[in-house]
Amino acid sequence: MPETKQTESISSLDRRRFIETGVGATLGAVAAGSITAMAASETTDAARGAEMIFRGGNIITMDDKRRQVQAVAVAKGQIVAAGDEAEVMKLKTDGTRIVDLGDRTLMPSFMDSHGHFMNAPQIVKWANVSGPPVGPITRIADFVPVLQAHVKKNGIKKGEWIIGYGYDRSNLAENRELTAAELDPAFPDNPVMLIHSSNHGAVLNSAAFKLVGYNEQTKTPPGGLILRVPGTNRPAGLIMETAFLPIFGNMPQPSERVLLDTLDSAQQIYASAGVTTCMEGATHAADLRFLRKAGAEGLLYLDIVSLPLFVEVPAMVKEYAPNFHGSPTDLPKEAPSAFGFYKNRLKLQGIKFVVDGSPQGKTAFWSKPLLTKGPGGEDNWRGRPLFPPETLIKLMKELYDKGIQVFAHANGDAAIDVVIDAGQAAGLKAEQDRRWVVIHSQCMRPDQLPHYKEMGLTPSFFPMHTFFWGEEHTANLGEERASFISPMKSAIDQTLVCSNHCDYSVCPMDPMRMMWSAVTRQSRAGRIIGPNERIDRWDALKSLTINAAWQIREENRKGTIEAGKLADLVILDSDPLTIETDKILEIKVLETFKEGKSIFRRTTA
Ligand SMILES: [Zn+2]
Repeated sequence: MPETKQTESISSLDRRRFIETGVGATLGAVAAGSITAMAASETTDAARGAEMIFRGGNIITMDDKRRQVQAVAVAKGQIVAAGDEAEVMKLKTDGTRIVDLGDRTLMPSFMDSHGHFMNAPQIVKWANVSGPPVGPITRIADFVPVLQAHVKKNGIKKGEWIIGYGYDRSNLAENRELTAAELDPAFPDNPVMLIHSSNHGAVLNSAAFKLVGYNEQTKTPPGGLILRVPGTNRPAGLIMETAFLPIFGNMPQPSERVLLDTLDSAQQIYASAGVTTCMEGATHAADLRFLRKAGAEGLLYLDIVSLPLFVEVPAMVKEYAPNFHGSPTDLPKEAPSAFGFYKNRLKLQGIKFVVDGSPQGKTAFWSKPLLTKGPGGEDNWRGRPLFPPETLIKLMKELYDKGIQVFAHANGDAAIDVVIDAGQAAGLKAEQDRRWVVIHSQCMRPDQLPHYKEMGLTPSFFPMHTFFWGEEHTANLGEERASFISPMKSAIDQTLVCSNHCDYSVCPMDPMRMMWSAVTRQSRAGRIIGPNERIDRWDALKSLTINAAWQIREENRKGTIEAGKLADLVILDSDPLTIETDKILEIKVLETFKEGKSIFRRTTA
């Protein structure tokens, strides 16, 4: 897409500034790039003739001012008109492709408000050890045959890693953790790692423990968990949090070429679900290098929003600003200009903090104890923060001072308090429009909502927890606290902008299932977890489109069907606003468009 003069001058100005200061673009020379959509919206020639017009069906705009229109015209990657059919059809030329929607529905494509894009190229190569409806595992005996089939299918050789994703004891009839001893007889010579559905832990077999150097002498690191064989100090299988994360970080990686070659399949996971903006919600230095290369090679056709993980910032500064000699937690003063715009479909948006772990893994940080024991059998367990709160508060304030957006993972109410404390320490106020995103905000307390309102904190909720872990949350937290997980209705009543995420690959990339959970809050067992927090369908769809766009400051270019916005669109086989509630889960994405270009088309019914 051609850039206007204005865009070019912005780009080259930034580029020059980075070069002059000698710091590169700090967190990636990602910055200096084309802002194509903004440029195109300033031109008028797009409106002279439509390349494509959608008409004759149901068109949902997600625009509160006008929820439905009769027709939409697209040119040069943008929506150039949306409204009454007679008006829109005036843009028809001989070359215009007319799409008659019939009984299909057109709406803005979905946006991933929190997930881990870098899991996608990997997952293409991993075994699915999730439980239904995502995967095949329902009992301990299921693991070995599923892994054996995976080894065969992928030609995994002796000594090579066998990796699975989606492990969760709550899927198992036995309701206990799988052990290394149960994997060892089938896989004596292959290290096996089955990653926990929270992505915060894994079960390893003995060959894997040997390879990573974990044995009876290994002490459990602070903030971590290593389950032991009863009566011994030998690791039993499950490791979590700080005992797992460094190991995962140091895993031998598939070669860059292999990973680059999986990028089409990886992006199709999103495109086939109608998602055109993906979140890489905890980016490591190596991931950023990879994504920049993918962008430079032209391999990205979806927009990727990257949030460098705060502990990786020193490594990134070293890589992209080698002449910077500040303290490890400082950022060069030019750092803010590395954020907020796309180059080669990759954008850095803010810095990601992780305050605690996962509620289903019992590694979140709560103010009151759970009703059940801790992950290692502890009494009065209320979890703990992963990092000292004082450090997190200081770092978040530093980013506030530099004007960089904060994205903080906080699941337990005590972890959410840490973010609120950081906001207060920084002097954060709603009218400053900083849009700190509190990712998950899962186990909120009602008294925390007014603080969100006051400081303009914006929650990205994870309401699918009501389905996948609703029963566990009720057992752990009791009925009252469990009813308030991902409290979307209360947040909307306080006029907070909230989004809905699936934390891919924690849960499947399935916006219709995300919507269904927000609307029904139904657990696997069919119970309603917090009926008062169910929201209506319109709000549920907003949380997957325009609200998610707002959180990353793209509400002027994405999230609704309005003239001037990008033609990021999806065609569904049914209307999610009117179909029977349980049929929402069956709605299929038929075609997905990124900037007017078809990037996914369903071939089978
Ligand atoms: Zn996450």
